[in-house]
Amino acid sequence: MKAVVVGAGIAGLVAARQLGLAGWDVELLEKSPAPRPEGYMMDFFGPGVEAAERIGLYPRLAAVAYHVEAAEYVDATGHPTSSLDYDRFARLAGGKVLSLLRPDMERAALAALDDVPPGRVQVSYGASVSRVWSDEDGVRVTVGGPPDMTVAADVLVGADGIHSGVRAQVFGPEEEYLRPLGMRAAAFIVTEPLLNARFRNRFVLTDSINRMAGLYSLRSDEVATFMVYRDSTGSPGHQRSGSPRERLRREFAGLGHAIDRLLELCPEHPYDDVVAQIVMPGWQRGRTVLVGDACGAVSLLAGQGGSLAIAGAALLGDFLGPVASPGGISPALAEYERRWRPLVEEAQAAGRRTASSFLPANRAQRLLRRWIIRATHLPGIDRLVARQILGRIAK
Ligand SMILES: Cc1cc2nc3c(=O)[nH]c(=O)nc-3n(C[C@H](O)[C@H](O)[C@H](O)COP(=O)(O)OP(=O)(O)OC[C@H]3O[C@@H](n4cnc5c(N)ncnc54)[C@H](O)[C@@H]3O)c2cc1C
Repeated sequence: MKAVVVGAGIAGLVAARQLGLAGWDVELLEKSPAPRPEGYMMDFFGPGVEAAERIGLYPRLAAVAYHVEAAEYVDATGHPTSSLDYDRFARLAGGKVLSLLRPDMERAALAALDDVPPGRVQVSYGASVSRVWSDEDGVRVTVGGPPDMTVAADVLVGADGIHSGVRAQVFGPEEEYLRPLGMRAAAFIVTEPLLNARFRNRFVLTDSINRMAGLYSLRSDEVATFMVYRDSTGSPGHQRSGSPRERLRREFAGLGHAIDRLLELCPEHPYDDVVAQIVMPGWQRGRTVLVGDACGAVSLLAGQGGSLAIAGAALLGDFLGPVASPGGISPALAEYERRWRPLVEEAQAAGRRTASSFLPANRAQRLLRRWIIRATHLPGIDRLVARQILGRIAK
């Protein structure tokens, strides 16, 4: 049996590995020329932890995790206004929370393809899928050339992210499924030894209104930066006019020296996209199935994208892996969706709750956030807040 997986992000890599381990031949096609270096820190907890332990990926992730002691809100002079104890957060999330840089997570999933017998999974970078279709023999995809190339398979796994082209071609245009949450987010990594030394082992977040910048010191002299701001247009990254760097410099002026310095060093094309969820009535059609952000993006603010990508892809492997003939494919895909959808929907509901209070719109809301963060130190309130943030995990 052969699968073609479109997109070598976390979901695509894990799906390819699990199918390869189950004995499938897999062609994994990724449009970027190499693993993508962009992205910020992601909290890794909940279903992804269980799945990663079960499939043997956890040690690789734990090996590249960062130790975060606190999340600290600061004013424009860099003084803390409130802070959240990370160990406490970890206990409420079931004890296992890893803080991982998105590209490190992707690299760990790529390295884990070594567990698959040689030749089973072929990974092609610089392979952009431009067309997908199916016929009675299976599925076909065209990989943009020149010259164009057609790949045939028994099943097509669309793991091509929130702006999935597989979804657009098989299920309908993006506008039908993309639910913008009224914000944009950007992420980039810069080399800045002084800021790196100043802010070690903690997330630093600006305690600002209608916009928020966050930073975290990496192991080298680098600083990972994250910026979120209100945006009602809902346009995805590639559809916004103007330079994203100039937009960020405009939006984040006046937040203090550290942020000014990061904006000075910001690359010309940082990761910059709409904060949104994908909500669809069905994730599989015939022999095509979606996984990860392509079908169930929870939004960057929920922080669980990587965890859900791993858990969903592992589950897809559980159901599709044992299938030995084309007739078994559709029932296996339906079972994957039946089992996985409720958890994704719950995480999306938690993501929407987080989004609505993520950026205070005025001083009163900012005061309320400070109060809530301080209240997390009180027994009972901590569980309540964690439940708001984490969804079912803290139940
Ligand atoms: C550059 C980048 C930075 C991110 N930064 C953050 C962050 O800081 N915090 C956070 O919480 N989440 C971030 N995310 C989202 C996060 O990666 C996902 O929520 C999560 O990892 C699930 O990923 P996924 O594998 O489903 O999709 P993605 O990570 O989006 O991966 C999809 C992959 O498909 C590839 N692809 C798309 N179209 C095609 C095509 N036509 N042909 C071939 N390949 C294609 C893309 O290049 C990409 O590698 C980021 C995503 C990206 C792409």
